Amino acid sequence: MLCRDLHRMLSELQAIVGEPNATNKETVLITYSRDASLVDALKPEYVVRPQTAEQVSSIVRLANDTHTPVIAAGGRCGMGGACLPLKRGIVLDMTGVNHVSVNENNMTATVGAGCTWGNLLYELKRRGFKPGFRGPYSGHSATVGGSVSSNSVGIASAKWGQAPQGVTSLKVILPDGAILETGSRINPNARPFNRFNCTADLTGLFCGDHSLLGVKYEVTLRIYPYPEAVEYCCFGFSTIEDAAGAFYQIQKLAIAEDMTMVCDKASIKGVIEEMADLFPDIESLFVVILEEPSAEIALAKQKLCQSIAQKYNGKDLGDMFPKMYWDSKFEMITPLFKYGMWNATCHCLETYRIPEIVYDLKKTFKKYKTEEKGLFALMCAMPTLNNTVSFVGHVYAKEDDEKALELVKTMWDEKKTEIWKYGGVPYWTGIAWYPYLEMTSEFRETLTRIKKALDPHCILNPGAFGIEY
Ligand SMILES: Cc1cc2nc3c(=O)[nH]c(=O)nc-3n(C[C@H](O)[C@H](O)[C@H](O)COP(=O)(O)OP(=O)(O)OC[C@H]3O[C@@H](n4cnc5c(N)ncnc54)[C@H](O)[C@@H]3O)c2cc1C
Repeated sequence: MLCRDLHRMLSELQAIVGEPNATNKETVLITYSRDASLVDALKPEYVVRPQTAEQVSSIVRLANDTHTPVIAAGGRCGMGGACLPLKRGIVLDMTGVNHVSVNENNMTATVGAGCTWGNLLYELKRRGFKPGFRGPYSGHSATVGGSVSSNSVGIASAKWGQAPQGVTSLKVILPDGAILETGSRINPNARPFNRFNCTADLTGLFCGDHSLLGVKYEVTLRIYPYPEAVEYCCFGFSTIEDAAGAFYQIQKLAIAEDMTMVCDKASIKGVIEEMADLFPDIESLFVVILEEPSAEIALAKQKLCQSIAQKYNGKDLGDMFPKMYWDSKFEMITPLFKYGMWNATCHCLETYRIPEIVYDLKKTFKKYKTEEKGLFALMCAMPTLNNTVSFVGHVYAKEDDEKALELVKTMWDEKKTEIWKYGGVPYWTGIAWYPYLEMTSEFRETLTRIKKALDPHCILNPGAFGIEY
């Protein structure tokens, strides 16, 4: 059936997932043409909400038979349109696949790809565990599958790296409908306890792929005992150089569960006004969270952080802000919507370059007169393991202020080009970024060859990363 009969297609999808779980209702299709960004995209033709791996497999097989594009969607809270269909077709809403099963013996949790980070943290905490990477700041809506598919950086990345870092195994539906398990599941007698085994790391192939190469059904993650003790630090500095110096010294030691730097005075004022009023001489600040199995270890590490901050002329700002931050992880960014929508420029960069990038962004803000125009601009940095940060630069504009939105978009497009030029590497991206990702020809060709081998009809997310045929 190459020529698609829309009604027949819908009834076939409904036969797979049940009538209420597949639709082509206009109101639903419109909803699935937006994520949390300002990106305008096409509406899909169908939205389908599968529950089982076999259902996903049948949908993908049907899509192959009818040459219908398929894209997977999780919480749909990306900032670049990654989950939006470039070629219409089917959106697979994975949020119905949200089971959590914990194996205390081998310290892993096997999670439905559509499980939110909020739900996962809750389910693990009540059993006495935590995952490593703890989700992006949108963790009430963002899903484990969505974050692993976009290499998210976020809470606890300082210690545990990006979302895929803790993954031991994936259950993936391939573009031809086959169901593949990776990691130690190369051996059908083994549980999914380990990622690196006797041959190539196929888990990594599907991380950050934006559903280009497969649909993740299940993700197995390493888990850790819930901490007995938590300590907090917050240090303020009068120069970005001192702040970045102390931040990097602490980051290198890999002792912090989480660290976040708010890079300039305007950002501090926008995030927590009281702090800016209380400490007017502070230009930059950062928080450090320490989670340990005992109070002694946590306090010793806190002391070490304090002594490093002192060496860089840091002022101890107490634990009020970091406590508030750590207790309300997923609510930290959302209040900033009061400044409007934002176009984010998150990208990974070597930590030692923080001051250079802060000055570079300030130049851009000056050029576009953001302050004079009353636009709030935020600069933050979050570590990913020991040597890199995600550098975050947002400029906010109210959704009903067309002029401001246009200005922010122009600035955003300029920045996307510059980030690539100065050697930054974006991670979550999406259709707003694809034209700016000037990968080496060797990389693009290799990725395209893998894609063609797995997906000869280019069914899965055609056009993602500019790859279509
Ligand atoms: C307030 C706010 C804060 C944010 N903070 C952060 C942050 O700290 N760090 C960060 O990295 N991002 C952040 N984001 C962006 C976004 O929320 C995250 O990148 C998040 O990880 C995306 O997850 P999701 O479930 O919403 O994925 P979606 O947006 O639904 O999808 C993202 C990509 O993954 C693919 N995908 C989804 N599910 C699957 C699956 N099962 N199989 C295969 N592919 C799949 C989609 O096709 C798409 O390409 C933030 C966004 C907002 C609105």
